[in-house]
Amino acid sequence: DQGIGSWPARRARMTPRNVALIEGDDTVTYADLDDRVRGLAAGLHQRGVTAGDRVAFLGLNSIAFVETMFAVARLGAIFVPVNTRLAQTELAYVLTDSGTSVLLHQDQFSAVIDAAAPESVTSIPVGDGADATAQLRSGTDDPASEVGVALDDVFMLQYTSGTSGRPKGVMLTHGNVTWNVMNLLVDVDLRSREVALVTAPMFHTAALNQVFLPVFLKGGTSLLEGRFDAGRAIELIEQHRVTMLFGVTSMYQSIAAQPAFADADLSSLTHALSGGAPIPESLLTLYADRGLGLFQGYGMTETSPGATMLREADSIRKLGTAGTPCFFSDVRVVDATGADVAVGQSGEVWVHGPNVSPGYWHNETATAATFTDGWVHSGDIAVMDDEGYVRIVDRLKDMYISGGENVYPAEVESAIYSHDAVAECAVIGVPDQQWGEVGRAFVRLTPGATLTHEELLEHLAPRLARYKLPRSTVFVADLPHNASGKLLRARLKEDA
Ligand code: AMP
Ligand code: MG
Repeated sequence: DQGIGSWPARRARMTPRNVALIEGDDTVTYADLDDRVRGLAAGLHQRGVTAGDRVAFLGLNSIAFVETMFAVARLGAIFVPVNTRLAQTELAYVLTDSGTSVLLHQDQFSAVIDAAAPESVTSIPVGDGADATAQLRSGTDDPASEVGVALDDVFMLQYTSGTSGRPKGVMLTHGNVTWNVMNLLVDVDLRSREVALVTAPMFHTAALNQVFLPVFLKGGTSLLEGRFDAGRAIELIEQHRVTMLFGVTSMYQSIAAQPAFADADLSSLTHALSGGAPIPESLLTLYADRGLGLFQGYGMTETSPGATMLREADSIRKLGTAGTPCFFSDVRVVDATGADVAVGQSGEVWVHGPNVSPGYWHNETATAATFTDGWVHSGDIAVMDDEGYVRIVDRLKDMYISGGENVYPAEVESAIYSHDAVAECAVIGVPDQQWGEVGRAFVRLTPGATLTHEELLEHLAPRLARYKLPRSTVFVADLPHNASGKLLRARLKEDA
């Protein structure tokens, strides 16, 4: 078994007594985790799960999340981590599209599951802490001994939105995720016994594949935090002598804004990673003054997610760039025909390497449109300088980022269009102090209809995750179009 499901057993034979996981007051050693994963795999197998089946998990960062992921992988089944912020309609779509047969969920999500889960899904509640999956584990023979998982087998489906308005399941193989971990280990000097604070959600690739799995591979400890709280993050860093942290810009911002930040003992922190968006210089300086350099990554779900890295030593000299490609990955900047552009010219970023997904789950059209000979088209526009540093300057795809979560206006607009009073609408991202960007909707009503921003939000609530809801709505008599009737989004942005 070359798969990620074999990792707990491999680590348990090297460092059985190291603490692998901490959740609140519960701790789990590598030996414990190996036992639990075997038991859970056997229990799931008895419930009918076999190789290739899709098993979803809906919950916050937790011991149950980790156990489920490894147990599913051991069986050669496919793990589907679900974004806990999804609204009912979105959740139903992900479960149906993935063909999930079994769904484990934390108790707190029972209500949305009851409303959203299709008939075909067996949903099983789990609790919190070290006993969360106790009733599901079985002591019978370990079925994994018969499954030979290969690196090319699919490890997980990671749903990500897109310009099409419907989320797509990115297939990440065991090999993709393993090579992403290798890329990270080349860049970041991880030792054995790192202590990682995993507080960004593990249902996204960054927290799971850039932090949890690399630390796990080295036999370190991950502190699993269900929800991000800046004050608590500082307490945990001090209390557990945390060495590694990943956060999006807004998380680093709110940690720095805590009154406790000034006197906090951050001396244990040696690896601070960020990703998803560039970090402004003012924030870099705030941390640099405390002796902490930040690593900034650029990537996407389709690259597991690391594509380029701006290392700490370069963070000021190459400020505003996303660094150079990760060790095992290659990056090109190309024109519309797929030919390389000259140094200093802008073009689309394409990424190649063993960490690049083979495509989207049963969606050949989207796969063909996004991948060429193993190169994934990022939809981001960049310029590469003469030292090979990539600067992301724009996006081809229509998307904005709110508190680290991507929002595709097309998806929000299609939900708004489902309201009868709406004749035409457009959504853009506008700058926001706290979240980076938030959505603003422009709506033209059908003649005679009335609608308020609050009524629109009520209509959208069961259809869209909260971070996708527009913060404001501007009711207009007309939206700007060009001569051929195409909406001029740029015009809306200029006026915003
Ligand atoms: P996701 O697939 O949800 O991880 O989103 C990937 C997208 O986030 C990329 O295609 C970029 O548009 C954006 N992104 C990620 N990292 C960065 C970065 N360092 N700078 C700018 N944009 C980024
Ligand atoms: Mg994406």
